Amino acid sequence: MRVLLVEDDPQLGESLEAALRLEQYAVDWLRSGEPVRATLGATPYDLLILDLGLPGVPGMQVLRQLRADKHTLPVLLLTARNTLADKVDGLDSGADDYLAKPFEVDELFARIRSLLRRRSNQRSTRMEAAGIAVDPAERLVEFDGETVALTAREFAILEILVRNAGRFVSRARLEEGIYSWGEEVGSNTVEVYVSRLRKRFGSDAIETMRGVGYRIPV
Ligand code: CA
Repeated sequence: MRVLLVEDDPQLGESLEAALRLEQYAVDWLRSGEPVRATLGATPYDLLILDLGLPGVPGMQVLRQLRADKHTLPVLLLTARNTLADKVDGLDSGADDYLAKPFEVDELFARIRSLLRRRSNQRSTRMEAAGIAVDPAERLVEFDGETVALTAREFAILEILVRNAGRFVSRARLEEGIYSWGEEVGSNTVEVYVSRLRKRFGSDAIETMRGVGYRIPV
């Protein structure tokens, strides 16, 4: 799960970024609203956490632009003002949820899980390929009727492959799913996770095509 965080307060931004990473989300942090559109155009995200009070382009304008562009990404607003008018305004502008500062990080995580669950319900939550069933909202994997425990990064790679079953997915796309900006990407990291997944699901479960990528055959 990859999260884009837009927050200008350096202290709050830093602590949210750290907390989200601890929860195993890949997170990228922007300090202003201007680059949001280009960033969302370049990288697939599962969630946008958007502060309303931003320097330059206000968060509400970022949100309206996003919805005008027909972006369906779930958006969680953060705001310093907890008034009903702000809440209504935010939800009317296309936000999915709203959190007033100060908030507990556990509450933030609960809201995030609920948004992702709602989204995957809309998308038909469970996906299956080659006998491997993946439920992204619940972070559940089943194989041959048994629940399989995976690490967050193993899960992230498997989810992308199952979502694209039958098609080759490039290594770069898989790296995007597991790394935040600025994190060092080991040159063989994806290979390491793919080989761990093969140990779980069988050596034929994931095909490699050199120079192209990986796929789960259907
Ligand atoms: Ca702010």
